[in-house]
Amino acid sequence: MTDIRIRFDRISKSYGPLRVVDKLDLDIAKGEFVSLLGPSGSGKTTLLMMLAGFETPTEGTIFLDGEPLNDVPTYRRDMGVVFQSYALFPHMSVGENIAFPLQMRGIGKAEIGERVTRALDMVQLSALRDRRPAQLSGGQQQRVALARALVFEPRVVLMDEPLGALDKQLREQMQLDIRALHNRLGLTIVFVTHDQSEALTMSDRIAVFNRGKIEQIGSPREIYDEPRTRFVAQFIGETN
Ligand code: ADP
Repeated sequence: MTDIRIRFDRISKSYGPLRVVDKLDLDIAKGEFVSLLGPSGSGKTTLLMMLAGFETPTEGTIFLDGEPLNDVPTYRRDMGVVFQSYALFPHMSVGENIAFPLQMRGIGKAEIGERVTRALDMVQLSALRDRRPAQLSGGQQQRVALARALVFEPRVVLMDEPLGALDKQLREQMQLDIRALHNRLGLTIVFVTHDQSEALTMSDRIAVFNRGKIEQIGSPREIYDEPRTRFVAQFIGETN
């Protein structure tokens, strides 16, 4: 039996009359890289936000390592989150940006120093610890955001279109870097994207979303070679 890290059990989310996630079931194994792929508005971000605890499901239960998360606040969910807009503090150095969430939790100075060192090492940015964000490239800034998400050594890393703001070349490099980091650290990653080629390159499994439901889930090869619905075939066939 595989070791399940995350289980979505009949999860729905409605905003007024609009049901944006519709009785969705999904299991994600420990150490798995799963992409949520689909067109804009299909409910991917909403699902991620429920997992992070920023939104509450209208129905259903999300489990982390078998524990229901319903009443667990965001900061106790042991998840690192990376968004497209990486929102670094411009007046703080790279090291201070990464230390910030640790300071907020009252962690001691020595431990903060060690954790920041480890996180910078993970994303290979140790040399840039004292720089300001404005002195970094877009890719380096995104790596700082990644280090900040990893600084708690979380059980799960959630990424919502993290590479959307980068140009093509940098984007492809970061895809490889994130995948390498995943392999090296054995991270469980849930990755939201609308870019088929990105999902195909990076994922262990891809969940193809359509109107709040998973249309098909499988390995990149299965999704690419054996699309089970017209929607999946068309979506995978489109080029960006
Ligand atoms: P995706 O990530 O696939 O682009 P989203 O999960 O962001 O899709 O959005 C799914 C649907 O939910 C969209 O129609 C969006 O407009 C709607 N939606 C998202 N958040 C809210 C909200 N806070 N209030 C009302 N509607 C929302």
